[in-house]
Amino acid sequence: MTDAIEKILSEIRACRVCAEHLPHPPRPVVQIGAAARIVIIGQAPGSKVHESGVPWQDRSGDRLRDWTGLSGEAFYDPARITLMPMGFCYPGAADGADLPPRPECAPLWHATVLAQLKTVRLTLLVGSHAHGYYLRGSAKATMTETVRGFAAYGPALFPLPHPSWRSTGWMRRNPWFETDILPALRDQVRAALTG
Ligand code: SF4
Repeated sequence: MTDAIEKILSEIRACRVCAEHLPHPPRPVVQIGAAARIVIIGQAPGSKVHESGVPWQDRSGDRLRDWTGLSGEAFYDPARITLMPMGFCYPGAADGADLPPRPECAPLWHATVLAQLKTVRLTLLVGSHAHGYYLRGSAKATMTETVRGFAAYGPALFPLPHPSWRSTGWMRRNPWFETDILPALRDQVRAALTG
């Protein structure tokens, strides 16, 4: 890990910018590696990840590893993968669903982190919050249309749905995701790591 990444990580760990809006003291959950080939930009940690401090160590993470074809070893290797949600801390829940990522977080930290990553070949935008922030005007009217039109975003950006439990029903309604999108995703992930 470079000194610059160490410094950024310690600044992130000390961040209290939106503490008053969080249900617990801030606990940012990220994995950053200077030589990462792939950046995975998710939504925000859930309560289980907040407790463990390990990104994507839940059912959503299992599904995302299955979608991407990444082993647990590769997924948790910062020399290969950076894991950076739109909100680094657990935002809490209401009416049985997690709240959206805190809006302060990505504008505050993302550009600083990405400026340190010089070897990124592929960025996975996981969920509509990441689509909205990174695709801006080029995101389609719905998350489903954005994912279906993934090829329009070029070889370096790949929009995906969030792999929460809701994605099971969504995948049943949109079988093209499994037949057409996932093989392309796995090819791009493999190429980014090995090419
Ligand atoms: S969510 Fe982001 S901005 Fe808010 S306290 Fe955590 S690291 Fe800081």
